[in-house]
Amino acid sequence: MEQYAAPLRELIEEFNKLPGIGNKTAQRLAFYVMNLPEEKSAKLANAIINAKKNIRYCSVCQNLSESEVCNICSNTARDHSIICVMESPRDIMQMERTNEYKGVYHVLHGAISPMDNITPDDIKIKELVARVAEGGIKEVIMATNPNLEGEATSMYISKLLKPFGVKVTKIAHGVPVGGELEFADEVTLGKALNWRVEI
Ligand SMILES: [Zn+2]
Repeated sequence: MEQYAAPLRELIEEFNKLPGIGNKTAQRLAFYVMNLPEEKSAKLANAIINAKKNIRYCSVCQNLSESEVCNICSNTARDHSIICVMESPRDIMQMERTNEYKGVYHVLHGAISPMDNITPDDIKIKELVARVAEGGIKEVIMATNPNLEGEATSMYISKLLKPFGVKVTKIAHGVPVGGELEFADEVTLGKALNWRVEI
């Protein structure tokens, strides 16, 4: 790496920090950027800055949103009495692709994981409890990832919600155990949603 000029080295290092990008790919991306005309590289850099600056968490469901309340939460055609709890905004996109779900969502932004020092306070659980406490919720569907952390998070939340007398269900395991929802196809995820069971 020492053979590269410092700014190029820095660019490679930043690409290298991205998920799934190894050293070779980082170098390829950095050289790709180097070969871009000035305006195109500026467009790329600005897209990153703008996305960070203009995207925030929806004040209701914590999904990524351009406005204070996201498009799904402000859609009156959706059923606001059903909340589907998911770990990440990417999971919502996946669920939307099933065309099976007409309720609203809650994004936890992670799962409880003692191994990684992620406690219930580190993810958006209290925001969910506050929503349920406000009333008007008939059902909370737990759709965390089908792995150890996701299961533990789902159990933890269901215990917290019990005192509110709300029905808590869990999507069926059409999705492979130990996997991530992101990789489940729409059909499988749609079935998992329809075959959900009360917990
Ligand atoms: Zn929202």
